[in-house]
Amino acid sequence: MTYVITQSCCKDASCVPVCPVDCIRPVGATGEITGTEMLYIDPVTCIDCGACVDACPVDAIYYEEELPPELERFKDINSSYFEHHPLAMDSQRAGTDHPAVEQGSLRVAIVGAGPAACYAAAELTRVAGVEVNMFDRLATPFGLVRTGVAPDHQHTKAVVKLFDPAFASPRFECHFNVEVGKTITHEDLLAHHHAVIYAVGAPKGRDLGIPGEKLPGSYAAADFVGWYNGHPDHADTTFDLSAERAVIIGNGNVALDVARILLMAPEDLAKTDIAQHALDKLSDSAIEEVVILARRGLREAAFSVGEFLALGYLPGVDVIVDSDELDAHDDDDDVETRMKLKIAREFTQRPVQPQNKRIVFRFMVSPVEVGGQEHAESLRVVHAGGESEVIESRLILRSIGQRGVPIDGVPFDDANGVVSNEHGRVLREDGQRVPGVYVTGWIKRGPRGVIGTNRSCAEQTVQKLWEDYDSGLLDREVAARDAMVGLLAERGAEPVDWQGWRAIDAAERERGRETSRPRVKFVDIAELLSAANSSDAAC
Ligand code: NAP
Repeated sequence: MTYVITQSCCKDASCVPVCPVDCIRPVGATGEITGTEMLYIDPVTCIDCGACVDACPVDAIYYEEELPPELERFKDINSSYFEHHPLAMDSQRAGTDHPAVEQGSLRVAIVGAGPAACYAAAELTRVAGVEVNMFDRLATPFGLVRTGVAPDHQHTKAVVKLFDPAFASPRFECHFNVEVGKTITHEDLLAHHHAVIYAVGAPKGRDLGIPGEKLPGSYAAADFVGWYNGHPDHADTTFDLSAERAVIIGNGNVALDVARILLMAPEDLAKTDIAQHALDKLSDSAIEEVVILARRGLREAAFSVGEFLALGYLPGVDVIVDSDELDAHDDDDDVETRMKLKIAREFTQRPVQPQNKRIVFRFMVSPVEVGGQEHAESLRVVHAGGESEVIESRLILRSIGQRGVPIDGVPFDDANGVVSNEHGRVLREDGQRVPGVYVTGWIKRGPRGVIGTNRSCAEQTVQKLWEDYDSGLLDREVAARDAMVGLLAERGAEPVDWQGWRAIDAAERERGRETSRPRVKFVDIAELLSAANSSDAAC
């Protein structure tokens, strides 16, 4: 008998070091991004001990006998990985470690409170003596776990449990609802900390640069994701759900998230923590078909195997794959591409139900123009052969990746939408290091990888920070620890601390309980602050 890793694997790899027989792969070195989309357990080597189950932060690991039907297939998926990559006993990742430091000798500001920031905080606070201040412009922590991960992926959101020890540390303080670059500056941070780590992500959806893409009705998928997840920046956006067809450009996992949310039955959405305004609007949606367009072929599809497979279990939705690669010989493909081709073939063999909604995957088509006068009405695409086609739609979402936004006072690589860096150390245009300034997460490496990818990324950045600390580069006078609180008050900030977040969290869960939902989010800043300051904060 064996354990099996399934769809919600976040690749954080907490399971790897606890496995007594070292049978979970792939595992790269610190900072390395391994090519696969998830981790796999070798069924031949697994000794059935269950240690990995306890360590998994997102409940992605099942005993094979207990796999629910929709995840049954992951048994084959795990074993076929090892058919192509026989287990070698040499790739256990070495963790970074550092002896305790003298209190007051290292205070680090972390800007951002998403997974990349939290992994960096966890890595730093486990060394005695290190002080960490975390800042986020939102009143709530956890970045994309709250505002990016799809609401029907509640398991994935459980990853935040991992960060409890860091947040509970007396050497850790958080200042949410404080915008760096507005309320306080980069220079303020340097005056109060020996080092600053930016973990601000890549919040802006990329543009295609085609005519009409800024018409109402045509949006970045990232904005739509923010809307249904209750991100205060997008809560007031109006999305036109009145036509039968939506079109998504790009076929990464974000595109699949959006397609599911557009087609899920309202009663299923209502079991999630989707923002109430989105639930109300989606309950009246006329959308029956979501067309997902890719400029390359099925083999190059950006979605992951697990997410693709899961579409087949969406009640009342047919998956149609329009590709001429389905019958192609796949001996030379990597293991995940083979699985995608196999699943695609299975989708095409399923009978289509006329009453069902549809997700239609199309390939080798590039968008060239959004048509319409006052509002998007269609998308013109060209096929690989050069012929052009007009697809009618009033909701066109470009899901083609995201970019970071510049931070005042910090060098920015505009071409790539990231902060220039070398293994996390920020670099000036001339290639020189900016002392004491670091990056981690999507602002460091671009918008690639799942939540757990940020763990190894943060470890690498923190390792560089330690090298600089040990060589005396971070050794300078900074303001006293409590001076930051005074500065924030002076600037008129209304910071939310950890207790404040706990109060928001408790209030949201309480609202959720009334309607059997995991939580009902606050999206309005006044409501968030009022909940943060409420006296019944659950601690
Ligand atoms: P992504 O995986 O990078 O996919 C981007 C898609 O946009 C690709 O299909 C790409 O096609 C296409 N594209 C880029 N430029 C284009 C252009 N000019 N014209 C047409 N198509 C274009 O990005 P993502 O979906 O935003 O995901 C970002 C990361 O988050 C990924 O690592 C993803 O796995 C992760 N994520 C994971 C989950 C999950 O595990 N459930 C959920 C959401 C996001 P080409 O390949 O041809 O460039």
